[in-house]
Formats: sequence, C-alpha cells, structure tokens
Amino acid sequence: MAYYVNRGSEMTWWEKSYIPEIIKGMWLTTRRFFHNLFGFIPFFLGTEKNRRIMTVYYPEEQVQYPVAYRGRPVLAQNEDGQPACVACGLCEIACPAYCIHIEPGQNSGKQNQYERWPDVFNIDYAICIFCGNCEEACPEEAIFMSDECEISMLDRKQMLYTKEQLLVPVADLQKRIEFTRNMYAKWNY
Ligand code: SF4
Ligand code: SF4
Repeated sequence: MAYYVNRGSEMTWWEKSYIPEIIKGMWLTTRRFFHNLFGFIPFFLGTEKNRRIMTVYYPEEQVQYPVAYRGRPVLAQNEDGQPACVACGLCEIACPAYCIHIEPGQNSGKQNQYERWPDVFNIDYAICIFCGNCEEACPEEAIFMSDECEISMLDRKQMLYTKEQLLVPVADLQKRIEFTRNMYAKWNY
C-alpha cells in the first residue's frame, strides 16, 4: 500500500520546541539498542520459544529473498545448453555501469539452429550496480536478475564472470520470468 506524506501538517508548539522530540528519539534508539543487545538471552536460555530480535545469524541462517529482489544478473540457458541470448547488444547499451561486454558469434554453417549467439558474454560484478536495466532491455528473455548476492571476492579480477559462469538453466528462473512478464505487462511494454 502506498504511503503518502502529509506535507500540509502543522507542528504543535511542543514539537516546535524540538528538545522533547530529540529526547523521545534518543529514548527510542537507546531502548532498541539494549533490546537488540540482550534480546537473544531468553531464547538461548530456553525460557522463550521465539527470539525477540530479528537479527539473521548469517551465514548459518539465510534469508529467502522475494522474487522482486535484484541479485546478480544471470543468463538464461535453454534446454539444449545454449544461451537464450542472440547477442543483440541492447543490454550492453542499456547498462549504466558499462560492465557488460558481448562479442557476437555468427552461424557460418551448421553449428546449431541459432542464427546468432554470444561468443563472449562477460559481466563485471565488481562494477555492476544491480539496477536491472539489462533485464528490462532484453527482447529475448535471456538475462534475468537472480536472487544470488554472495559474489564477494578477494581479487576483483575474479568478479569478471564469463558466459559459462553466467548461465543458469531456464527452469531455475521460472519465478523471475513470470514476475518480469507481469511487471512489464503492467507497464505496457
Ligand atoms: S544490473 Fe545494471 S549495472 Fe548490472 S549488468 Fe545489468 S544493467 Fe549493468
Ligand atoms: S541478453 Fe538480451 S539484450 Fe543482451 S545481448 Fe542477449 S538478447 Fe540482447
């Protein structure tokens, strides 16, 4: 549900004096601080069944991300093992971070049933900003934002993913594919 800020509301005299509001804010912050600091104790002592604090004990615990989440972009891989990409270059142009590099291959004979495909398709996750423009620009449903975000490396060069590393079977992307179809249909794409 949308939340609207009422910009026409007037502050009371009490609020305009600021000091009470500052004290109120500090009280809330301090209370939350101690709540988070000691809130796990009853749970670990076994006196409470559920934790009072919402901290996720990563990496032992993992969060299930919603389908709208934009993790690392991946390439859809058809059942025959080929990328769905036709190397049109639209995602490369739409990418504001210039982190996609594509070199198209062309069918010179009977390599496969595709006319075009990417010989090279690299994404540099070190500079990707996970904006989703590539997904939006793609006319072939070939690139999708996944729910994976664990791509930190010690060496930035390892964050340059090649086509083979980017491929994800199309069956594993069904939820996101349905989501994007619904989303773009609403936007009249
Ligand atoms: S998510 Fe954005 S920054 Fe990352 S590859 Fe796609 S278009 Fe580029
Ligand atoms: S992923 Fe999509 S937009 Fe990018 S080159 Fe391939 S077909 Fe074109």
